[in-house]
Amino acid sequence: MILIMLGPPGAGKGTQAKRLEDRYGLANLSTGDMLRAAVKEGTEVGKKAKAVIDAGQLVSDETIIDIVDEAIGMLGSDRGFILDGVPRTTVQADGLSRILDRRNKSLDHVIEVKVDDDLLAERITGRYTCATCGAGYHDKFQPPKEDGVCDVCGSSEFTRRSDDTEETVRARLKAYYDETAPLIDYYSERALLRSVDGMADIDDVTRQLEAILS
Ligand code: AMP
Repeated sequence: MILIMLGPPGAGKGTQAKRLEDRYGLANLSTGDMLRAAVKEGTEVGKKAKAVIDAGQLVSDETIIDIVDEAIGMLGSDRGFILDGVPRTTVQADGLSRILDRRNKSLDHVIEVKVDDDLLAERITGRYTCATCGAGYHDKFQPPKEDGVCDVCGSSEFTRRSDDTEETVRARLKAYYDETAPLIDYYSERALLRSVDGMADIDDVTRQLEAILS
């Protein structure tokens, strides 16, 4: 199974992708995670991407198509995967289609996670993760049970993404509506698009996804 999670930043794509990864044994290919890892490692791609990410803009299509091609190439040929945060432009969508054709693979679903605009900024600026195990939290919507202590591993160290600031969020939402939202029509015309209500609570969104995938 190959699926794309489509939706604005803060829609909950990453949270749901992690759940589907466990539930269906899919690989989770998040270009945001790959780029953040490249920044941390200080690779050439990471050095170029850092300023672009912190400005809330999009990394070049060429770079993205290359890293996706490489990531898919590293999976076993039968392994299904979720594309989280990619494609984000029609050029990337065309590039992905060529990558899949070359490997005799095809997309099964493109799932749009729909969320009202006014909730997105609040979701993004309040989110953080455990620095040790990566569990996700939110200042308002999902605080740990004990203040300052991770529910999952007990660590007291947390991190926030450098691009989860109010200023950068505005640029990221603009990039989404200008560059990525046209993919809704792109995949709808190809009869691949399904939607879930991302305003529902996390478990309910997962149930909506499972209903589509099973
Ligand atoms: P994300 O973790 O998906 O929110 O991505 C974080 C940032 O990485 C984005 O704001 C972009 O700067 C960059 N990025 C991630 N995926 C892509 C992509 N498919 N195309 C262009 N830039 C991307």
